[in-house]
Amino acid sequence: MSKDQELKWLYQYQEVRRRQSKLEKELEELLADHSLIPLANKLTLVAGKMASCQEAISNRRKEMKRWEEERTKLRYHREESEKDLYGGKITSPKELTQLEKKIAEYRQAEERVEEGILQAMYDVEEMEKKLAGLGKEEAGLKEELAKRRAGLEAKRSALQKEVAALQKEGERLAGLVSPEWKERFERLRERMNGVVLAPVKDKTCGHCHVLVSAGILEKARRGGAAPPGCENCGRLLVVL
Ligand SMILES: [Zn+2]
Repeated sequence: MSKDQELKWLYQYQEVRRRQSKLEKELEELLADHSLIPLANKLTLVAGKMASCQEAISNRRKEMKRWEEERTKLRYHREESEKDLYGGKITSPKELTQLEKKIAEYRQAEERVEEGILQAMYDVEEMEKKLAGLGKEEAGLKEELAKRRAGLEAKRSALQKEVAALQKEGERLAGLVSPEWKERFERLRERMNGVVLAPVKDKTCGHCHVLVSAGILEKARRGGAAPPGCENCGRLLVVL
């Protein structure tokens, strides 16, 4: 296998691994993403408001029912008293006066209860309006949250797929390179921050972009097993 071809594969391998580690970092950031927390907290808050609103409505309705029962009772007693009053059985003026007073008291009590019922009806109506508004807000938040979750999930899934493909491609390229070169590359890689080989581009180093001297350029063009290093950054120069 020609050394030049091997260097080209090694360069491809390096680039595949660089892209892979960049995407892996992105994926890590995505998995640790906390940007949805404020939205989720807002949703919990609205749900809590809805629950207390529903409880208040239910309590007010129960109260209303009790008042309605009270009204029925009062009405019954008043009507019974009225029957007595107009029935002609009672003739004593004192008793009649007492009965009239009692009837008036029942009426007053009925009016108070009636007022309470009307107020409760009004309150329930107002709270139901508030509940409907909260329901709308909750639906909007849920939709937004679901949309953003789906977006993150799609991004995560795409990144994972790409990383897996790069892993496979890296393994394929690594298999093409001789073990000596692979070892040398791995040794240099850490020190050189993942970039060992740099292609020459327009007579400059593809990594640091400094002009390559004519002698070095000539060596790089000749290729072979010992590529020259960039005089500025030390990367091994290859002509692709
Ligand atoms: Zn350089």
